[in-house]
Amino acid sequence: MASTLSCPRCQQQLERTTTPHGVFYGCAGCGGKALGVDVLRRTFARDEINAVWRRAITGEGTAGRACPSCRNAMLEVSATEGEQPLRIDVCRLCHSLWFDADELVRLTPLPPNVARASGLRDSDTRKPEARATPEWQAVAELLNSPVDWAGPAAQQPSKLWLVILGALAAALVAVLLRVL
Ligand SMILES: [Zn+2]
Ligand SMILES: [Zn+2]
Repeated sequence: MASTLSCPRCQQQLERTTTPHGVFYGCAGCGGKALGVDVLRRTFARDEINAVWRRAITGEGTAGRACPSCRNAMLEVSATEGEQPLRIDVCRLCHSLWFDADELVRLTPLPPNVARASGLRDSDTRKPEARATPEWQAVAELLNSPVDWAGPAAQQPSKLWLVILGALAAALVAVLLRVL
């Protein structure tokens, strides 16, 4: 789905994509992506994202390209040290980060179970378990019920017969009284 956001590198319209962790905007031309801080925290190692965000809000880094959304200059902040430090563009106004095509893969993804626990798939994975418990209890109750109700169930027919016999006797008496 096309959006009103434009790529800071090649000015193409960014495409909106929905993932289980939230929405991001990608450029079909250069492969760059704009993601919100919240989506990133649900997808990648939180420490890495928080470190980049902290550097940006404390004013570290240099003014970089224009934000795809608000067009203000983003701050280019270093995310990793080493020979080829990763430099990510951050917009403090939109709480979003811009990654060039080869940059996003250099972040550390969360293990699947952690991502699931904090992501939007949360409710989907828990529902079957929540439903399974009452079902299991219901089955257990059904299995237990013949043992619990054996006594009363055995007595019920004899009580019923007493009532029927009583009614028949009363009817017989009524008929006999009319005939006599
Ligand atoms: Zn682009
Ligand atoms: Zn912005």
